[in-house]
Amino acid sequence: MAGLTLQDVHKRFGSVVAAREVNLNLPHGRFVCFLGPSGCGKTTLLRLIAGLESPTRGHIMLDGTSITRTPAHKRNFGMVFQSLALFPHLSVGENVTYSLRVRHIKKKTRQKRAAELLDLVQLSGFADRHISQLSGGQRQRVAIARALAIEPRLFLLDEPLSALDAKLRESMQLELRMLQQRLGVTTILVTHDQREAMTMADMVVVMGPDNRVRQVGTPLEIYRQPSDTFVADFIGSSNLLQGSCMGAREVKIGDQHLVVAEMPAGISDGTSVTVSVRPEDITILPGAEKGNNRMPGTVSFIRDVGSNVEIYLNCKGLQIISQSTPKGRPDVKQGDKATAILPAASCIVLKS
Ligand code: ATP
Repeated sequence: MAGLTLQDVHKRFGSVVAAREVNLNLPHGRFVCFLGPSGCGKTTLLRLIAGLESPTRGHIMLDGTSITRTPAHKRNFGMVFQSLALFPHLSVGENVTYSLRVRHIKKKTRQKRAAELLDLVQLSGFADRHISQLSGGQRQRVAIARALAIEPRLFLLDEPLSALDAKLRESMQLELRMLQQRLGVTTILVTHDQREAMTMADMVVVMGPDNRVRQVGTPLEIYRQPSDTFVADFIGSSNLLQGSCMGAREVKIGDQHLVVAEMPAGISDGTSVTVSVRPEDITILPGAEKGNNRMPGTVSFIRDVGSNVEIYLNCKGLQIISQSTPKGRPDVKQGDKATAILPAASCIVLKS
């Protein structure tokens, strides 16, 4: 099979399971993000792919050929670490072409390649500078250029942007994404920042606290159709309502009936389920109204952050959060009676 394949990959460090029975197929040319909370095994999975760790069990294949036992330096993968690991005693140009020097590439060829790569990461003219004379974002670009020098078959990045301030981080995310699109190199980025993953990836691998892969999909798929309550809660924010199944498309939550998008297979009447509804899908109307998919309550809090407005509604002890644009701001204030409307198509049923 073309691309990178992980087959039943399992990694244990003593009594700790760092990655559990991972099966993945990552086609060529994609920008993939490994996303999950701290300790879920993202870095371990990346290091296994890079050849810096060996799996306890399972196989890693590239284009159908096993690389499970291939040493890291023979895989021809480029890697950027969180620490960047630049050589402080070498110039920018020497850092970028270090891997070519180790491969005994001639000086003239190396210098030409350094100029090309520095141009690519918008650092033309920086070849003779010292690493200590660079800003955080410029160091980042040097590390990226260095990893790309060998024209890697896979480009692997472990939280390379986490040390940057928020603004620089966002601009580097776009830069990196555009660079990847231009080069077409298959890229895997590890991050615990869901916004970063949603911005950059065309394929997201969500890992859970049990060190298993929970869902693989496009950013929109994992946002709109989360596979379980962990993914729904981890990706963006969601109202997670506990209830029980009441037929083909209905869930009972307290004394309310919600018509839902669809009922997953294998759920029978009376089974406990969780309904996930994104705050931006909920409409708030002034006044208390009853009926299916309508939850009357009292406005308990309004958070206005300029670009959007969040309304917190207390519906008999159940908190519903809605989000709207300033233009679509509901005409309610704290303490008012109001009704949350939860459209059936936005009510996604997850197994509890
Ligand atoms: P973070 O976002 O905090 O970097 P992560 O998702 O990348 O976390 P890993 O670094 O892959 O997680 O670690 C997964 C688990 O494996 C953790 O419980 C960690 O403590 C453990 N672990 C990782 N490397 C080793 C090691 N060399 N020896 C022992 N345990 C390890």
